[in-house]
Amino acid sequence: MPETDAPAADLLESSHGKPKLLVVDDQPINIQVLYQAFAKDYQVFMATSGAQALVLCKDNPPDLILLDIVMPGMDGFEVCQRLKRDEATRNIPVIFVTAHNDPAQETHGLSLGAVDFIGKPVNPSVVRARVKTHLTLKFQSDLMRKLVFLDGLSGVFNRRYFDQQLPTEWSRAVRSNAPLSLIMVDVDCFKLFNDCYGHQSGDDCLRQIAVALKGSLKRPADLVARYGGEEFACILPDTPFDDALALASEMERRVRGLYIAHKASTVASIVTISAGLATRTVDSVGDAPKLLGLADDQLYLAKESGRGRVQGKVL
Ligand code: GH3
Ligand code: MG
Ligand code: MG
Repeated sequence: MPETDAPAADLLESSHGKPKLLVVDDQPINIQVLYQAFAKDYQVFMATSGAQALVLCKDNPPDLILLDIVMPGMDGFEVCQRLKRDEATRNIPVIFVTAHNDPAQETHGLSLGAVDFIGKPVNPSVVRARVKTHLTLKFQSDLMRKLVFLDGLSGVFNRRYFDQQLPTEWSRAVRSNAPLSLIMVDVDCFKLFNDCYGHQSGDDCLRQIAVALKGSLKRPADLVARYGGEEFACILPDTPFDDALALASEMERRVRGLYIAHKASTVASIVTISAGLATRTVDSVGDAPKLLGLADDQLYLAKESGRGRVQGKVL
């Protein structure tokens, strides 16, 4: 994962680069017209059947779909219905493009979850304007969905997201017979830091630590969340104990490497963290709360044995 000064930046990826449009129509000439209307400002993908469109949506989800209704095999209504049923494709806006201007058809299409209806033959500037409007709304709602799971102070994921992801990742690990590691991080002597340097500096310190922790992560599936006050939690799917231990140690080093002065600390003259690691192996019995409990116990041990260190155990 690339290191960044703004931990939330990668959450806005969908608004980077040219938006992706999928045009679905069994008549290549219709696709051609829409392609020409959009090729300059969009990445345009094409499908000539409903089945092909569904595969494309799974492999490379577009930001918006222009969907013909009358097609041999699976018609546009059916394609829309299937997209809306699937969690992974539900939020992609669908605009029907059709020669029918029958209010009953239009009502039916909108009731299936389409956002708009455009009549053929299409007027390029009208279709471009409507697509732009719906894409703006789509990117805004994507952003809202993401903000719900972000911590306002540090920019990393929040507790709500962590609470949702830990059981999900546990189940995934069980299903795929894979290890799963969890690291709980707590800033050392942070009350003294606030007392000494003030709350604003404390907040700033938490932000820097969040960036350092996030910068240690190696894979896109790894995540760091702010668990509470000055505690962070990292979920590392498919990560065995030794790799997670190396990562936790790197986090501890990176935070020291920030060289944030902390003259009141009992550990060092700079800010340090303690970390507790717990790993589910393929032989572990238990559940997500047990893993969390073990990581907490290990964090407590790290504190007890002097702080500024990592303790870990296999569940
Ligand atoms: P230990 O080494 O045992 O973890 O000691 P500690 O002082 O870090 O732990 P304690 O739980 O006693 O205190 C945590 C402090 O973290 C208390 C609180 O003021 C501070 N804190 C929690 N959340 C925030 C925050 O959002 N901003 C700031 N500036 N401080 C916070
Ligand atoms: Mg604490
Ligand atoms: Mg603390």
